[in-house]
Amino acid sequence: TELSTMILDRIRDVPDYPKPGVVFKDITPLLADPVAMAAVVEELAGTHQADKIVGIEARGFILAAPVAYRAGAGFVPVRKKGKLPAATLEESYDLEYGSATIEVHRDAFVPGERVLIVDDVLATGGTAKAAVELVERAGGEVAGIAVLMELAFLQGRERLAGVDVRSLVTV
Ligand code: IMP
Repeated sequence: TELSTMILDRIRDVPDYPKPGVVFKDITPLLADPVAMAAVVEELAGTHQADKIVGIEARGFILAAPVAYRAGAGFVPVRKKGKLPAATLEESYDLEYGSATIEVHRDAFVPGERVLIVDDVLATGGTAKAAVELVERAGGEVAGIAVLMELAFLQGRERLAGVDVRSLVTV
């Protein structure tokens, strides 16, 4: 479609970042284009009905905040461990080497609120899966996950069985 072409034309492959052998999808050209950015925000905001939009640090914040504004929903940050000031819940997940921990404020959701999780890229799905667990433990109902780009070869979707995952482009 026109939107997927607009997105793909504005995502840059950076070889060997953050380490040799990895091709990093750099969304900064898309962020810098106001027409493409507006179309992306519009599309992400239309994927699921939600009361709160969760953004995953750090690039998820950039998309989730305008999505929340567009949807008339609240914004909730999911952050790396140690960054949120008040009482938190935490969830750890495995990375290729080692592990990562993300957190959400314990009181981020009213019980039963519908929550849309937004991020830039779905890769192995580890981060998104941990975010789903956090939202559910904090009392939210996950309406779905919306990402700009899905790296299908990493099969992240398979780790998210039972969750409605929408991606604007798949590579
Ligand atoms: P996953 O946990 O393996 O699915 O990785 C997804 C997380 O890592 C997301 O929060 C992304 O922001 C980030 N990420 C992984 N690969 C890329 C990439 O190629 N470009 C931008 N972000 C990426």
